Amino acid sequence: MTNHLGQDVLVVGASAAGLSTAEALRRGGHRGRLTLIDAELHPPYDRPPLSKQFLSGAWNDARIALRPPEALSELDADFVLGERATHLDVAQRRVKTNTGRVVSADSVVIATGVRPRRLAGQEAFTGAHVLRSVDDARRLRAGLRPGRRLVVVGNGVLGSEVAATARGLGLSVSLVGSAEQPMGGQLGDLGASELAAVHRAAGVNLVGGHHVRSLIGESGRGGRVTGVVLDSGEVLPADEVIVAIGSEPATDWLIGSGLELDDGVLCDSRCRAADGVWAVGDVARWEHLGLGGTIRLENRTNATEQAIAVARDVLGDGEPYLPVPFFWTDQYGVKIQMYGAIPPGARTEVVDGDPADGRFVALAHDDDRLVGVLGWGIPKQTRVRRQELAEQMAASVPALR
Ligand SMILES: Cc1cc2nc3c(=O)[nH]c(=O)nc-3n(C[C@H](O)[C@H](O)[C@H](O)COP(=O)(O)OP(=O)(O)OC[C@H]3O[C@@H](n4cnc5c(N)ncnc54)[C@H](O)[C@@H]3O)c2cc1C
Repeated sequence: MTNHLGQDVLVVGASAAGLSTAEALRRGGHRGRLTLIDAELHPPYDRPPLSKQFLSGAWNDARIALRPPEALSELDADFVLGERATHLDVAQRRVKTNTGRVVSADSVVIATGVRPRRLAGQEAFTGAHVLRSVDDARRLRAGLRPGRRLVVVGNGVLGSEVAATARGLGLSVSLVGSAEQPMGGQLGDLGASELAAVHRAAGVNLVGGHHVRSLIGESGRGGRVTGVVLDSGEVLPADEVIVAIGSEPATDWLIGSGLELDDGVLCDSRCRAADGVWAVGDVARWEHLGLGGTIRLENRTNATEQAIAVARDVLGDGEPYLPVPFFWTDQYGVKIQMYGAIPPGARTEVVDGDPADGRFVALAHDDDRLVGVLGWGIPKQTRVRRQELAEQMAASVPALR
């Protein structure tokens, strides 16, 4: 243990997962050199508000900072901001950046997250956005003026959140996506139809069950986007378009490193990608012993919890990481929470509250097995019900390897 406390650690990606790893290392007694590299120039900030309070203008920059400047300096770490890692030498645990900087360490933690998918050709248009960074959020916010027409492409979590925020700002909003109902892939039939009802009541034009064929706009590079063409040929006119069609792990810089990349950095049950190399947060796909397969989670809670698990393992005191998968979203002032998952065909039953009152917990069973807990506007009861899922998962874990 003593040995580990003095070693040098390099964290690539200084956002939720990277910063939490660094903090957990220091809390665990680590006193060696600690370096964090991030491609963005901004000190670490939180992303969930970018589609909610920050996008609506309710929160400013200071409010989304993950830590105040004093807390970052107390960490006693070297922050290398505005530099992109371009190469990892796994055997030497050495990272190169786009400026030619080379940083070597005893341990390397990969925390580079994901980047948004785009529609082919969307970069040619002004007013066609993606949303991952605070700079993206600023650009989008500038276009969200009352009375304008916003088309949201993608009716998953992010698209649904942006639609809700934009309606709150007084835009005319269409939410288009391949799922029949918003978040149909995540919330199951009951949750998705409740969400659809809330969006409809707020005046969102729901266009489910459709793919987008292309964007149209003024000719020439940088011309304004003017509409979205659906697979049916119908054109939805738009002043602004946000493309929220999912994301892909930011692993391009690891190609050729020898690490196994398969929709994320492939890791063992302790989030180790290779000897002395770990992955954490949205970019990590690890073997979840409780679920019997590999899993990658894109959510804020996981970024922190996995970071704590990884930091412990870096310090020589780790164990398999076995969280109950979880995400939450806030739309129209309602907190929606999902523990586990609701696979297609699962049986869903309301066990607390009532959807008619806008507050309920539903349990999802696949055969007779509890697989998901959906909470709608009652966080406390939802957490109580989560316990059952956690206990069932713990019981199914084989002898820890
Ligand atoms: C708009 C929005 C809303 C969200 N809302 C919710 C929500 O309501 N609930 C929820 O649970 N989750 C939400 N999330 C997801 C949550 O924010 C992420 O799960 C979390 O940010 C993951 O943290 P991370 O550190 O793994 O990745 P990221 O936050 O993506 O950070 C990765 C960092 O790595 C850096 N990086 C990438 N490549 C390189 C490179 N080659 N070299 C150096 N640096 C690099 C990036 O600049 C970035 O700072 C939301 C995300 C977004 C974008």
